[in-house]
Amino acid sequence: MTDLKTLQRDDAAHFIHPFTDSKTLAEKGTRVIERADGIYLWDIQGNKLLDGMAGLWCVNVGYGRQSIVDAVSKQMQQLPYYNSFFQCTHPPAITLAKTIADLAPAHMNTVFFTGSGSESNDTNLRMVRRYWDLKGQPNKKTIISRENAYHGSTVAGASLGGMSGMHEQGDLPIPKIVHIAQPYWYQEGADLSPEEFGLKAARSLEEKILELGEDNVAAFIAEPFQGAGGVIIPPSTYWPEIKRILAKYDVLLILDEVISGFGRTGCWFAAEYFDLQPDLISIAKGMTSGYIPMGGVIIADRVADVIKQQCGEFTHGYTYSGHPAAAAAALENINILKQEKIVEQVANEIAPYFQQRLRTLAEHPLVGEVRGIGLVAAIELVQDKATRARYNSDLGVGTWCRDFCIQHGLVMRSVGDTMIISPPLVITKTQVDELIDKALLALNDTYQQCLSA
Ligand code: PMP
Repeated sequence: MTDLKTLQRDDAAHFIHPFTDSKTLAEKGTRVIERADGIYLWDIQGNKLLDGMAGLWCVNVGYGRQSIVDAVSKQMQQLPYYNSFFQCTHPPAITLAKTIADLAPAHMNTVFFTGSGSESNDTNLRMVRRYWDLKGQPNKKTIISRENAYHGSTVAGASLGGMSGMHEQGDLPIPKIVHIAQPYWYQEGADLSPEEFGLKAARSLEEKILELGEDNVAAFIAEPFQGAGGVIIPPSTYWPEIKRILAKYDVLLILDEVISGFGRTGCWFAAEYFDLQPDLISIAKGMTSGYIPMGGVIIADRVADVIKQQCGEFTHGYTYSGHPAAAAAALENINILKQEKIVEQVANEIAPYFQQRLRTLAEHPLVGEVRGIGLVAAIELVQDKATRARYNSDLGVGTWCRDFCIQHGLVMRSVGDTMIISPPLVITKTQVDELIDKALLALNDTYQQCLSA
């Protein structure tokens, strides 16, 4: 076994990591994760970590699922690869498309397969424009997104996303993608109630449609709750108002469920949780629980019928669209979710317990707000609970807390000074207690460090 120092040296020399300041990382040295089981990870030094982020919001069924390994292995022996271009197809992709159509909202019965969430959103961009072209409204091209949204890292994905740091690198967004305000009440709500603020944020969509002209607007893209932006859950008034606006101006809804899909909210899809009827749903991550990369777009009949029935090719597709081994992983992953009734368990047992236990952290002097739905949550770290004022961002309080979490054996991610949690859906009540205990220790250490800063 190669020792840690050698691995870290080779890593620094040869490996550029995603979303990473390589220079700082090389100085600090990477954490080398070696194996995983259930909801736990072990690094190469043998330290055990509770994975409060399910990898990167994806390992919904937990690590170490032999049946997924077996399903993939069997598929690889039989047909490791074939494409679905040029009049061809294969059983795993067909079965998966049908299985997902059965799980999706009733008006959505068709799937386009991709290799990742970013590719799913690139597909969405091209598909909505193709749809409006075929409908004889070629000017309906602009896509409205939101500030601080995350929709991926490809050129279209990063443009659709609303992360200013991403736009700064590479002259993004590309044309005909615009952004409106996000529904982040805790940070931007000021003196408004959450309900008032939710309406205000939603109405910025109407203002933007009127500014652009409804004949120029193809779609609105949004995560049901923003994930990478900081687990931002819109106030209750937000989505109903958005629905009203989209219907009024005939603008399509692209719901990015790359994080929320496959059980995170206690529903198979958050469309159901928020009572939405999207035209396109982006999926990835929990689709295979991350065992093999795969993504897709679930398409409403309204859009699919136009794409399928009009003559002419939709000039879009990936080598790995519907990859047979990935499809086998997805099918077994979905089978596990169904057989073990994991989504129902989340809704009825674990999410209520997790959310209730997590709320106890709101009493901590460093915590301004705890919010969450299903098995996803955020903890806001603040200097002043009453005014919601944060610490000086140069301190990096969120990063301190993240590092203390690791010291106490817990993976929690920080987005600025917002701590975010999204554990595997198979977490038990005892493990939720362990997560809360560890988070509390990290909060205490972080608070002490704030006091002495
Ligand atoms: N959409 C959302 C909502 C995401 O959270 C992510 C990834 N975090 C993506 C799209 C991009 O997915 P991928 O990294 O698989 O390209």
